[in-house]
Amino acid sequence: MSLVVLQPCAAAISKKHYEDTIKSPVHLEKVAGLLEPSDVDRLSALYPSGKIPLWGAKPGENNQHVAKWQRMRPGDIILFAKNNEFFTLGVITYLLRSSAAATQLWGTAETANGITQTWECMFAIDELRTISIPVTEINRVVDRKPNANVQEFQVLPQDKSDAVLEYLDMVGNAYAPVPDEPAYENDIEDPDFAQMEFMVEAVRRAEQAFLRKSLFPGDTAHCAICNREFPVRFLVAGHIKRRAACTDAQKRDYFNVVMPNCTFGCDSLFGRGLISVDDTGHFQVSPMLHYGDAAGQYLQDFVAGRACQLWMQNPATRPYFDFHYKTDFKNAVLEHESATV
Ligand SMILES: [Zn+2]
Repeated sequence: MSLVVLQPCAAAISKKHYEDTIKSPVHLEKVAGLLEPSDVDRLSALYPSGKIPLWGAKPGENNQHVAKWQRMRPGDIILFAKNNEFFTLGVITYLLRSSAAATQLWGTAETANGITQTWECMFAIDELRTISIPVTEINRVVDRKPNANVQEFQVLPQDKSDAVLEYLDMVGNAYAPVPDEPAYENDIEDPDFAQMEFMVEAVRRAEQAFLRKSLFPGDTAHCAICNREFPVRFLVAGHIKRRAACTDAQKRDYFNVVMPNCTFGCDSLFGRGLISVDDTGHFQVSPMLHYGDAAGQYLQDFVAGRACQLWMQNPATRPYFDFHYKTDFKNAVLEHESATV
């Protein structure tokens, strides 16, 4: 299972590293000569463009950061923090240790006791996106003191990582190790697993039936995103703020936290964070989507540049749209991604 890494990025030196090697990804050829051939091969395969967002931690005077770094695996999630807010999220794709490459990229620094170190506990990152999640919110999710700050590079224990991943809706990703086939076969043949699957599905169907009947009782209703009118069988009750991230009170606030979404595209696009509603009530499209293909055509025809009528007409939905925009919306971090749409 993936772990969650918390990385403070408020100090001047961290901000500079962020600008130099995250926002402007490192060209592999710049460091290839300093790395093991196996590292170069793997990074070339993971990053066909040859441009790699890289980060590194110093070992620490007592090697205290090395032990944390050694617990990390591809598929772990990193959250960068400054000013009491997590502002960037990414997925770890590869870990490598190289003091030569780290020195080339970031130079060296002295510890409090005058020991020269570099940021050699390195890792490559992908799927970077901007977020805006108060540190207090993650503290609540992991049961930390409300005012606890992100002081140093941390790798959360599994139970706390699970809670954050659930909150972020990021359980499982393309880089996480997948269960091998025999384990999966065992799982699906296990009667307990089948029973659990059945119950989860039954609860989901019951909830959908209840929400749909309450929220769109007629024969037709308008999709809250494309604003087209559909027979209700083509609409689902979609949570504006993901159900897993809602408090109990918010779950009960279903007249405001849930909206009708058409299954012709809007439900999928919003659910994946590829479109969102900004703080003026207008739809924003993720730079990860491109105009020119079928999805782009859909956005152009029904979504892009329009105002969300539900946001305009019902202010009680706005905190939930705000959560989606700041947490789930896949906004770009890398400079070269910003101009694609
Ligand atoms: Zn729609």
